Amino acid sequence: MNKLVRCLSEDGTVLVMAADTTELVEQARRYHKTSKVCSAALGRLLTAASLMGTLLKSDDYSLTLRINGGGPAGSVIAVGDPHGNVRGYVMNSNVELPLNSKGKLDVGGAVGKDGNLTVIKDIGMKDPYIGQIPIVSGEIAEDITSYYAISEQIPTVCALGVLVNPDLTIAAAGGFMIQLLPTADDTIIDRVEAGLNDLPSMTMMLTQGLSPLDICKKVVPGFRIDVLDEENPDYICNCSRERVEAALLSTGKASLLEMTEDAGTQVRCHFCPKIYEFTPAQLRALANGASRTDEEK
Ligand code: ZN
Repeated sequence: MNKLVRCLSEDGTVLVMAADTTELVEQARRYHKTSKVCSAALGRLLTAASLMGTLLKSDDYSLTLRINGGGPAGSVIAVGDPHGNVRGYVMNSNVELPLNSKGKLDVGGAVGKDGNLTVIKDIGMKDPYIGQIPIVSGEIAEDITSYYAISEQIPTVCALGVLVNPDLTIAAAGGFMIQLLPTADDTIIDRVEAGLNDLPSMTMMLTQGLSPLDICKKVVPGFRIDVLDEENPDYICNCSRERVEAALLSTGKASLLEMTEDAGTQVRCHFCPKIYEFTPAQLRALANGASRTDEEK
């Protein structure tokens, strides 16, 4: 089961959170039939969205991460909610690349470095909060750290990992994030940094059987921590026929009427395998609805 835990240091200076997202990344892989490197890219971004989503303050808020570095994988998108539930996709999910110089899946190469990481927070206002930073490495964890430093001025340590089996299934996926709260002074920063020396990789800790709580304790060894909350995040798509109709309507009456010339129209959800079918008559009815809405304006 996917698991996410958030802890606060006893002195209130350090927030530390860790997640085992193995199952939800495997779900994403099955939905999108991702190649190894794309499973790693999407899995890392989904894990980041899961961790970052839990920092949202209200149940109806959501957070979208979009990284587009001009690499062969194209844009990678992940959406998270306050309980760590996520959905996402990678534009070109079948990209294959040789391992990088460290012998690891070349996520930076697939994502590319020429572009931006965009963070969109829908926090119930008319306009969402949008933060954007230039990509640092395309390896995603570094880019998330840079986002927090530049856009939110929050010192953050982030590690994300996805280990893919030879048969393409996901062996382990997860991540942790440490954030210093405004009360943290330089001595706290030094203590956090000291604790990170010689830390095994995220996927190593998961395959060794460490739970997210064990990982929280391991990454800030100099601190006593208390659990704030725990979640069991999932891969959840919230698509529905109504949402698809709304998206079709937004393309305008002319384009809807053009679609009625085909025998039938299929709309595939970006985030899950669901396909929504529309007959010409249904599209015509939608188009007529669109014209009514236009008249009302
Ligand atoms: Zn869907």
